[in-house]
Amino acid sequence: MKNIKDYDLEELKKELVEIGEKPFRAEQIFKWLYQEKVKDFDDMTNISLDLRKKLKDNYTICNYQILRKQESKDGTIKYLFDVLDGNAIETVLMSYHHGYSICISSQIGCKMGCKFCASTGINFVRSLTSGEIVEQILAVEQDTGIKISNVVFMGIGEPLDNYSAVVNAIRIINNPRGLNIGARHISVSTSGLVPGIYRLAEEKIQCTLSISLHATNNEKRNSMMPVNQAFPIEELMKACKDYIAKTNRRISFEYALAKDNNDNLEDAKELIKLLKGMLCHVNLIPINKIDNGIYSKSSNESIMRFRDYLNEHGIVATIRRELGSDIDAACGQLRRKNLK
Ligand code: SAH
Repeated sequence: MKNIKDYDLEELKKELVEIGEKPFRAEQIFKWLYQEKVKDFDDMTNISLDLRKKLKDNYTICNYQILRKQESKDGTIKYLFDVLDGNAIETVLMSYHHGYSICISSQIGCKMGCKFCASTGINFVRSLTSGEIVEQILAVEQDTGIKISNVVFMGIGEPLDNYSAVVNAIRIINNPRGLNIGARHISVSTSGLVPGIYRLAEEKIQCTLSISLHATNNEKRNSMMPVNQAFPIEELMKACKDYIAKTNRRISFEYALAKDNNDNLEDAKELIKLLKGMLCHVNLIPINKIDNGIYSKSSNESIMRFRDYLNEHGIVATIRRELGSDIDAACGQLRRKNLK
């Protein structure tokens, strides 16, 4: 059976028309699912018994079970959810002064193979559906009673390798009758799948695009991220410029600093050359060393020197606060965990 949370509002209207119902019922159902967060069609009390039966006959409501929940000293919470087919995914809730941010997964495993990331080296199983993506947010809101204000697609998986489901999920998250989170509070992070960037630019969604850049020349980027062999830096930059021109949105470039690899001022100089004049921001991430990883974290001095150098040369750069590292919830530490 189909998961009712896989449909955005317009699609659900069409589905309902197909079973002989009025489109406005979709709005009522959306409200029950995403605002009241009911777990059963029978809780949708303003829906007739007849329609509830039809819904039960045709759809399921996906509700995750929490398999594990770990809380960090800094308040970050990592969840392991059972996605109901024997697989599990990780989701991270972070608290900032401006509200709560959730880092969600888009796939079970990842194909990208970035050398510094813990999600690499685990088998790719499958992509998540829209409903499975959105359910991470619902399950965390239900568990904690809080309202999430920011969503980042920075958990396990490559969002642009699961393009349609991710865009659909964004529509549900953004819809005022859905989770009602502003598009500007939703970030999609990509390792650089160029065709997906061009496509996203056409969607008329005002979400933030984050590019995992991490290196400024092809040789170094190839050694860190195999995806660069398919889509080298020149092509990536062209796609980014197109995205900015079409959306007028600032791109966020992620740059994970690894000791003696990409953290010296020569790298900063190259980065400035690459980004000069672009509507962008650089997010510096102290790299988190993973088990058997070849990269280790740059010193605080190198990180600050790198940031200051960029800022002094007209590139806005900030250092990402490290959250949840004690529970393996920091950037790049997520792994798909087997149930057994
Ligand atoms: N596949 C997407 C989203 C998931 S990764 C992407 O590549 O963007 C989210 C961010 O964490 C990316 O910027 C990624 O490069 C970064 N990251 C991965 N491993 C890391 C590590 N060990 N330390 C710091 N950042 C890491």
